[in-house]
Amino acid sequence: MADANSIEHQWNSTDMDDNSSFASLSISDLSDMDDNSSLTSVISDLSDMDDNSSLTSVISDLSDSLSDDLSDSKSDSSDAESYDWDMSTTQGKTDALKKDLLKWAINDGIKDIHLSHLLKILKAHPDADFSKLPATATGLFQRSNHPVDMQIISNREYYSFGLKNQIVKTMAKYPQSEISLLSRIELILNIDGLPLYNSSTTNFWPILGALKLKPLIVFPVVITMGDCNPTDMEFLRPTVQELKGIAKDGVSYNGQQYAVPLKCVTCDAPAKAKVLGTKQHGAYSACPRCTVKGKWRGRVTYLDTGNEQMRTDQSFRNKSDKKYHYDMSVFEELEDVDMIHLFPYDYQHGICLGCGKKIIVIMVNIARFSKETK
Ligand SMILES: [Zn+2]
Repeated sequence: MADANSIEHQWNSTDMDDNSSFASLSISDLSDMDDNSSLTSVISDLSDMDDNSSLTSVISDLSDSLSDDLSDSKSDSSDAESYDWDMSTTQGKTDALKKDLLKWAINDGIKDIHLSHLLKILKAHPDADFSKLPATATGLFQRSNHPVDMQIISNREYYSFGLKNQIVKTMAKYPQSEISLLSRIELILNIDGLPLYNSSTTNFWPILGALKLKPLIVFPVVITMGDCNPTDMEFLRPTVQELKGIAKDGVSYNGQQYAVPLKCVTCDAPAKAKVLGTKQHGAYSACPRCTVKGKWRGRVTYLDTGNEQMRTDQSFRNKSDKKYHYDMSVFEELEDVDMIHLFPYDYQHGICLGCGKKIIVIMVNIARFSKETK
């Protein structure tokens, strides 16, 4: 059994020598087998032979007869002449593909589960022309070999995909018959922090975009990365500058001019306060819609909401409520937007995690109390 174990070890080894005679045996001889369990049974059968010398001689004979076959196909896997099958038939081509896949899986140590996933994908596209596939993983991922032009803004690594460029690329993903009928497409932006790891404070603050079309296709506009949350919102300024240009000139696509106004900027409550340069949502005078001050009931609560003065674009830009603002917002550079309604309510924090959660807790407590007092 000692030799059988060493054979199994050699089979499993991912750094198997390309000229290994056992690799030749395995690839050529096992192409008809269902899975590695068949290999185990072969090894088991072989190991039941009389002595180890017989086993060695059997392997030696098999590998001699099969090694030529493998070395031929290895020398140039794209050379159809090197295959044993009739490459003018579909069956012959399929057999050749199976052989090449097996050779690749063994030589590169591809796990069965990954090979199974690949086979599933290949079987799902029977009419695909594989010769049209990119030649490398770099091509498949559409990675650029050019160095990325990184900048440092707001003390963070900053990369911009270009807003106008991304809008045009996204327009190309929609049916052209529908796009050509439009002259105005609204733009939605999203700004939020995104922690990358549990064990560190490194995070992304991306700017994402989408055109108000169905289905919604989200695209990156800017990616920034830093060791902590941004200390200022200067990383938004280049995008706001681009927005100013787009608001003035529109976007040209397929020889047609499109107006692309900014519909809204979606942020959760903490991110919105940072982007607007206003107080965080748990503070006094922090309502983004009205000037209610709030009262302390274990936390700041806004109970007197009936007669409060509503905030307007003008009152925001004039900083009329001094208690609400602590900084200018970069978005104030955009003249044609309403600084109040450009930023919709945060449904997640305001409703789901805010009063919705509180109402559920109160209902559960009432039910529990009435049960205990019965
Ligand atoms: Zn309010």
